[in-house]
Amino acid sequence: MLGSSHIVLSAIAMTLIVGVRYLITSGLFAWLTDKVRPGLYQGLKPQIGREIRWSLYSAAIYGIPTGIVAWGWQNRGWTQIYTDWNAYPLWYLPISVLLYLFAHDTWFYWTHRWMHVPKWFRIAHAVHHDSRPPTAWAAMSFHPIEALTGAVVIPALVFLIPIHAAMLGFVLFIMTLMGVTNHMGWELFPRWLVQGRLGQGLITASHHQLHHARYTCNYGLYFRFWDRLCGTDKGLGAFQDRKSRPREDASLSDATRSA
Ligand SMILES: [Zn+2]
Ligand SMILES: [Zn+2]
Repeated sequence: MLGSSHIVLSAIAMTLIVGVRYLITSGLFAWLTDKVRPGLYQGLKPQIGREIRWSLYSAAIYGIPTGIVAWGWQNRGWTQIYTDWNAYPLWYLPISVLLYLFAHDTWFYWTHRWMHVPKWFRIAHAVHHDSRPPTAWAAMSFHPIEALTGAVVIPALVFLIPIHAAMLGFVLFIMTLMGVTNHMGWELFPRWLVQGRLGQGLITASHHQLHHARYTCNYGLYFRFWDRLCGTDKGLGAFQDRKSRPREDASLSDATRSA
């Protein structure tokens, strides 16, 4: 009895943590956007309201399985999460992070392509593309079906791939950071990174922006690996410059028309 009430408490606590984490990070980057690109989100208030509402539903869908698994880890010895730094060789620490990111990216790429099949797009993915252009608040703006496909990834991986609790925290940090910054409407990372050799393999806002503009390319999450392998990588999108307003940007109005 006690155990089952604790598992419910864990699910509720994790939902609150995910929701508050979303509000803080998206709020922080929305604030930063207002400083760096004043007026970028002008006229988008109704859309931002929808983005926040869908994101908070998603917080529960992400929080419940995560809370259950966290409870099982603490109370039943579930999962391969470890806290002893010597349990595995030190070189495994960065490898485990890369394994998690690559597994997540692979799952995301293929479920994302599946959600672009027209029938499933209308049911599960139109909500996410309703943000035109997306803002920092769109990070978790998903239909519940799409949220569910994203929510199961980390709770499943912790049963399969050993990872130190701190490295898991780092994976969640990257997941949060990229989810917000890829949607905020401008490039956070320096040009040398985005347009240099690293950017050939990594996904940042410039890459995901083109997915939101064209729909039929750039499906990946962290890496351009699957997009390149499957011929769906169409390079980087362009943002409007500092002075012009986003709604006057040609590529963005094209996106709205082609929707
Ligand atoms: Zn997106
Ligand atoms: Zn999509």
